[in-house]
Amino acid sequence: MAFDCYCAICGVGFSGMRIGTPSDATAERRRQYVESVSRSLDSAEERPPVPQDGEESIQSYDPRLVDQDNIAWTKQVHCLGMHEVKGKNKAFVSGPGYYADAGELAVKMGQRAKRTYFNCYGFGTDEAPGPVVPFHWCCFEILLRSLTGTTDPKDVDLDVLYDVMMGMCNSSGSALRLAYGDDVAHAQGQYWRCLPGAEFSVRHPTNTPNLAKFMQTQLKTNKPLHTPSKNLNFDTRTPKNPFGALPAELVYQICSFLPGSSLKSLIQASPFIHLLTNDDYFWRSFIESDMPWLFDSTAPAESLTQILRNSAPGVDLNHKQVYTWLDSVTKPKYGLEDPTLMGIANRRRIWGACEELAKGYRAVAVSAAA
Ligand SMILES: [Zn+2]
Repeated sequence: MAFDCYCAICGVGFSGMRIGTPSDATAERRRQYVESVSRSLDSAEERPPVPQDGEESIQSYDPRLVDQDNIAWTKQVHCLGMHEVKGKNKAFVSGPGYYADAGELAVKMGQRAKRTYFNCYGFGTDEAPGPVVPFHWCCFEILLRSLTGTTDPKDVDLDVLYDVMMGMCNSSGSALRLAYGDDVAHAQGQYWRCLPGAEFSVRHPTNTPNLAKFMQTQLKTNKPLHTPSKNLNFDTRTPKNPFGALPAELVYQICSFLPGSSLKSLIQASPFIHLLTNDDYFWRSFIESDMPWLFDSTAPAESLTQILRNSAPGVDLNHKQVYTWLDSVTKPKYGLEDPTLMGIANRRRIWGACEELAKGYRAVAVSAAA
């Protein structure tokens, strides 16, 4: 049985966040640890063991990369639970609260002055009923967006969502069985471990106000991103493989359903697909469908194409290059240090977990409607 429990959506803890100080004696050891983990990841070797707690523990975040303001969001908890309304079980979303300890939450419920205690993931008691599913509000908004395209809880069937989430509860009752990413999996001990190098996983995933400025600077100065690719004429092509016999629009459609990594493999395997996807029109659409997590939180309704257009007005972008660049810089990667990209990479990581949840939600919602 775990002692701590974690956000059902991002997998991060609600308490025990520690940040080192710039002058503390562990700064150098923290740096050496990050280097050794990075080396092991580069050479696909096993990660070095997590340093144990103790007097000289290096389990604290790098103060150059996160401060108390950056991690304040991790401490506020909401939950999805089930209670009886007029003799029927009905799912509810609680108001804000905090993680009390040992799997219990204290949250606001409606207008009640006192906070109500609930038990996360477990069965609960008279004093702390349960189980409830705990989460950070920003993570819940990402989940809602991945489910419905909006952040309004009214657009989702909370009863179904509750059942799906509780059905994915892990055996230790500490989180869900979701791929939160290696860095978070390593941090989920009996208590949350603040592992140096994984600071990006505790940066706010939606409060990323510098995204527009970052895009503007990069799209202006990164020359390969605005070298237009050639528009190809497919009228003269001869069918040479199964894809060659299909209309280009249909092949576009097929390619657009693939995840980025699979498309990359297909492009390498098929010269025809390589040729076809050299067209800028294809990448303008693909970038939109493959990166739904890349939105500007200050203008959430804006599409990625609009963000790109606004960031580089009048510039002919090479959208294949832009896609490859964005895919690379936003990877949730151990050791990430860019202040703007840390939050974006964290959002991308969380979106991956949300997509797993969304699959389960849609399967139940569709069979319930049938
Ligand atoms: Zn979360």
